[in-house]
Amino acid sequence: MFEYQAPEGLLENRVILVTGAGDGIGRTAAITYAQYGATVVLLGRTTEKLEQVYDEIESAGYPQPAIIPLNLEVAVPHDYDTVAEIITREFGRLDGLLHNAGLLGRLGPLHQYDPETWQQVMQVNVNAPFMLTRALLPLLRESSDASVVFTSSGVGNKGRAHWGAYSVSKFATEGLMQVLADEEDGLSRVRSNAINPGATQTTMRASAYPAENPDTLPTPEEIMPVYLYLMGQDSHPINGQVLKAR
Ligand code: NDP
Repeated sequence: MFEYQAPEGLLENRVILVTGAGDGIGRTAAITYAQYGATVVLLGRTTEKLEQVYDEIESAGYPQPAIIPLNLEVAVPHDYDTVAEIITREFGRLDGLLHNAGLLGRLGPLHQYDPETWQQVMQVNVNAPFMLTRALLPLLRESSDASVVFTSSGVGNKGRAHWGAYSVSKFATEGLMQVLADEEDGLSRVRSNAINPGATQTTMRASAYPAENPDTLPTPEEIMPVYLYLMGQDSHPINGQVLKAR
């Protein structure tokens, strides 16, 4: 497991947006960031799930979060501008952005891969993080220490048969992260990195490996050290890297 013990209050006074915050790793990351003092903006497509995370954060006494419902599969550039406007109006700042939402699509050989599914996966996993980053970059650049964290995968730098659009989208995610990291290097205080969570006990993992016993896998809670590390200032000046959660 990635070794890092986050100090209490690591993320105090920081505003952090998490995509796909209603379930799986994103849900746990949002609650963990709030636990360490961040004001968390919960973005996702299923409002009821986001409300549950909101309630959990509030009842634990962590900083009051905010909810922005958005379906990344159908969102257009204007919607991302609206996200930026809401954050500017409500908080006036943004210090962290966790691109966590992801779509697995269907596993199968390329010659049988459904083009519509291909486009959906690329839209959620690649185009949406690009458009969201683009809209939020002006706000992030105003932060004294901004961290943008992308989510890759074990199939994000080595292709694997049958992983189709998902694998290709994670290569693109790493590319997007590197381009951003290089562009902002020396220009702003925006750092950009990616996490490869490794096999983790979530709904996505279970749909990719239905025969696997989920109890043999780490929970999202167990992989949080690297998520905290990259979002806080202890990881300064790491930029353009992919870190493994374990
Ligand atoms: P889950 O499927 O458990 O959660 C994915 C989250 O993304 C959900 O909250 C989901 O929302 C949200 N999401 C999906 N599509 C959209 C959309 N169109 N608009 C907005 N939100 C959307 O996945 P994990 O927690 O397992 O995965 C999190 C990230 O980690 C992903 O990027 C994944 O690729 C990556 N990853 C996961 C691994 C694992 O073993 N679990 C291994 C390697 C990488 P909703 O709840 O409404 O469906």
